Amino acid sequence: AGEDLDTAASPLCSSTTSNSDRRWSDTGSYAARKKLQSWFQLPHGNWELAKILSTSGNESVISLPEGKVLKVKSETLVPANPDILDGVDDLMQLSYLNEPSVLFNLQHRYNRDMIYTKAGPVLVAINPFKVVPLYGNDYIEAYKNKSIESPHVYAITDTAIREMIRDEVNQSIIISGESGAGKTETAKIAMQYLAALGGGSGIEYEILKTNPILEAFGNAKTLRNDNSSRFGKLIEIHFSESGKISGAKIQTFLLEKSRVVQCSEGERSYHIFYQLCAGASHVLREKLNLKSVDEYKYLKQSNCYSISGVDDAEQFRIVKEALDIVHVSKEDQESVFAMLAAVLWLGDVSFTMIDNENHVEVVEDESLVTVAKLIGCSTGELNLALSRRKMRVGNDNIVQKLTHSQAIETRDALAKSIYACLFEWLVEQINKSLAVGKRRTGRSISILDIYGFESFHRNSFEQFCINYANERLQQHFNRHLFKLEQEEYIQDGIDWAKVDFDDNQDCLNLFEKKPLGLLSLLDEESTFPNGTDLTFANKLKQHLNSKPCFKGDRGKAFSVSHFAGEVTYDTTGFLEKNRDLLHLDSIQLLSSCLCHLPQIFAANMLVQSEKPVVGPLHKAGGADSQKLSVATKFKSQLFQLMQRLENTTPHFIRCIKPNNLQSPRLYEQELVLQQLRCCGVLEVVRISRSGFPTRMSHQKFAKRYGFLLLDNVASQDPLSVSVAILHQFNILPEMYQVGYTKLFFRTGQIGVLEDTRNRT
Ligand code: ATP
Ligand code: MG
Repeated sequence: AGEDLDTAASPLCSSTTSNSDRRWSDTGSYAARKKLQSWFQLPHGNWELAKILSTSGNESVISLPEGKVLKVKSETLVPANPDILDGVDDLMQLSYLNEPSVLFNLQHRYNRDMIYTKAGPVLVAINPFKVVPLYGNDYIEAYKNKSIESPHVYAITDTAIREMIRDEVNQSIIISGESGAGKTETAKIAMQYLAALGGGSGIEYEILKTNPILEAFGNAKTLRNDNSSRFGKLIEIHFSESGKISGAKIQTFLLEKSRVVQCSEGERSYHIFYQLCAGASHVLREKLNLKSVDEYKYLKQSNCYSISGVDDAEQFRIVKEALDIVHVSKEDQESVFAMLAAVLWLGDVSFTMIDNENHVEVVEDESLVTVAKLIGCSTGELNLALSRRKMRVGNDNIVQKLTHSQAIETRDALAKSIYACLFEWLVEQINKSLAVGKRRTGRSISILDIYGFESFHRNSFEQFCINYANERLQQHFNRHLFKLEQEEYIQDGIDWAKVDFDDNQDCLNLFEKKPLGLLSLLDEESTFPNGTDLTFANKLKQHLNSKPCFKGDRGKAFSVSHFAGEVTYDTTGFLEKNRDLLHLDSIQLLSSCLCHLPQIFAANMLVQSEKPVVGPLHKAGGADSQKLSVATKFKSQLFQLMQRLENTTPHFIRCIKPNNLQSPRLYEQELVLQQLRCCGVLEVVRISRSGFPTRMSHQKFAKRYGFLLLDNVASQDPLSVSVAILHQFNILPEMYQVGYTKLFFRTGQIGVLEDTRNRT
């Protein structure tokens, strides 16, 4: 410790190192020579701070904190930063920017409840898994007045508001991270700040109330997170001329609807089911013929009914209140609850064999009667819809009996689609309530809370879609931070060594190329009547084996090299999930129902089914509803999303999960490191540090600060004025560069000018 910082200048300023060793460009022997403190990696992987006692040849003698003395190869040591840099606000300030230093810096802060740290332009947020005293009105005020400078979601949100107003450009706050890392909480914290600063009209209150509703219907307890979002969400918050919130619009992505009929041990289905069963009034209970949660098959299978610390009945009250606030009428609320009960009761509908060919009929019991009553049809109609399928053969209509497994599939498909439609309907109602008034300015701040990269032991269609989305988002991130940056320097004639970054275009091509990409081949196989998961897997291997990022695996599996690592997908269920068929019989049933929600759902489905086609073309004549495949719909949603984001100034928040146990005060280095690598945090710091991240056109700069000039400038052209300002304020030459059209500044430089401007 105590080394002169200048001699410890970051070796990262030279950008000549290759991709692979870039993160390790600090050399151990350098540290050893200078007798700095060093990082030493213990056999189990954790890093410890070591003191170098002596060095001879390429070996060093070090002492570890607990007093142990070791002789090690000098090159295994990684230099540590001097003590005065412990826990810096921004990783960019570190002299040595190696992995252990970054890890230690984050841990140092985390141990002191400083869960936020900047990594250049990116905010890193480490989940505290406990209440931390960093929020509320006092903090909001402090960030608004800029009396606190430490990194925070509030600070980044504040920047977004200011830039929206200053630059007249829409903003986005893009939050990513693994399941349980804290994305949804972070999004809510950002919304709180926006509501506090842009509030006044009352609409902000409604906007905040969408959270408990969407969480009740779209979140569930999983093994990773007690409140896991099972959908992606973009909320666009609109502002009026005066900077007040004028409305909002929510878009959701890819709700995991399989959870409604199937969930694994220790997890739960969507919160709302448990809330309804726990919190319904006596009258409602009677009306819906509600049982308790452990009596429904759909809820029973995972053997988990409650979440520690959560009162489902109380949550139900909160959700109902929120529904009131977003103007869902009592009558509609009751229909919503009836649909939920119908879904639960559908799970209890059972079948009996009627012949020895495995054909079935619905058992006429309480569940059948209740479902029919709840959705408003006769038991006969429901029975037919669940046990028969109408088909057209030539000019004749024939009715085919369903086998036991077909009937169960049909029943579950109906339950899933009622739930998914209910969710969509709710979002629609919320959007109506939050609709931006006529006096819209078009200025907005969008917050994206979307599932992060997933890699499990077994990865299926859901992970396939999620990881594809993350691949797109990563490209957006890369583009924004690296590519645009570089191009801008070059375009403006700034001398700056090229920086190479991991481009993931190859992987995106693998997904998106037509006709030979993963998505096209999936859709193609989904339309073949004889297509199976195996024929799909074989087709992939046949067409893509030579492509970068792809590897055929044994049997029905294949692997993709994603930016965050290789993932092996098991194609089992891919075709069915992609087709996501609801039989026409079910749609017809819903559209003829007496209750109005099912009718709305059915109408929506029929509209969808008029669009282009994916779905097995049954030889019998295609009585199935044909609609966009799930992957195609998701892809087009994703493209729309990216287009919207492209037109905004993005602000990135990377959420990090410090342990897998959801417990406070536990920081697992290896787990954190792996996430930091996945989301490119280390790369970002390196690039930002060595570059000029703040920039402004000469015109804008001259206009904004020109009035501060004390002497008249001979020439009034913006470039001359700009240069005069720089001289007057003694901005050091190494702190800026003058481009053809813009000025480029090192971080922090513009602050001095802003302060003066604001004081004047
Ligand atoms: P998923 O992808 O599964 O939806 P997520 O990234 O949205 O996960 P959250 O639901 O936001 O994760 O966070 C998980 C839990 O972590 C929260 O329920 C909460 O207990 C805790 N948590 C997250 N952020 C904070 C915070 N800033 N302060 C206190 N607790 C937090
Ligand atoms: Mg979430």
